Parts: sequence; structure tokens; C-alpha cells
Amino acid sequence: MTDKQIYEGGCLCGAIRYRSSAAPTRGVICHCSMCRKHSGAPILAFVHFPIVSFHWLNAEPHRYRSSRFAERGFCSSCGSTVSMYEEVLRDRVQIAVGSLDDPDSVRIDDHVWTEDRISWFDVNDRLHRYRQSSVVVPSKADQ
Ligand SMILES: [Zn+2]
Ligand SMILES: [Zn+2]
Repeated sequence: MTDKQIYEGGCLCGAIRYRSSAAPTRGVICHCSMCRKHSGAPILAFVHFPIVSFHWLNAEPHRYRSSRFAERGFCSSCGSTVSMYEEVLRDRVQIAVGSLDDPDSVRIDDHVWTEDRISWFDVNDRLHRYRQSSVVVPSKADQ
């Protein structure tokens, strides 16, 4: 992974496309119940792109305010989970890793909100697990 790499992705139908000219600064796998509901998946992985390097290429995601602290972005045509915005993290756009064209190009740093983890679901890695939000980036999105 180099700083010259371009990161692109979008929703399932292609109405929403984005590009970042900077590498993500952080990656998390979230086990919280709100991410689960929003994605329909057991977990939701996000990478954080610096907002100054990030551009929506055509349509932007619709936003749903899921809590006092966060809005979640999705495609109103195909329903794909695309993004999240947090009041306390205004310098970045959080992008759902599944929407990246090349998810192998990013890394995950840790797991958050494991106290909500589905008992039959786990990931076989050695990354740090936080019962709630990470101490590195204390997110309020799931409150
Ligand atoms: Zn779409
Ligand atoms: Zn979450």
C-alpha cells in the first residue's frame, strides 16, 4: 500500500461511486447491533478516509440519522450500505469495506463493540478486541 494508490468503490447498482486519493487512516470491524441492522450482516467493517482526499463521483448516499452522534449512508436505489459520518469525527468519511472495488487493499486494525457480537460469529484473527469503542478513536456512533 502506497500513498499514490487510488481507492475506489461504490454501491451495488453503481449509482454511487467514490474515490480517495489517500490511504485509509484506520480500519475497524464493528459488531454493534446498529451496524448489524443497517447492513443485514453479522458485522460491518469500515475504513476511515481523510475527508480532504475523498470525493463522491456522482450521486452521494442518502443519509439516515441512526443516533444523536452519527448518520449512516446508503444507496436509495439498491440499498447498499456505503458510509457513516460521526459528529466527533468530522475529518473523515467512514466507508463500508464491502463497497470497495478492492477490499484487499486496505487493512483492519481492531474489532469494536464485541459485547454485541453474535455468539455463533467470530473472525479468526489476532487483532485487538474492544468491548465498546476503541481507545484509539473513541467513537460515539453506536450510542
Ligand atoms: Zn446503488
Ligand atoms: Zn457499529
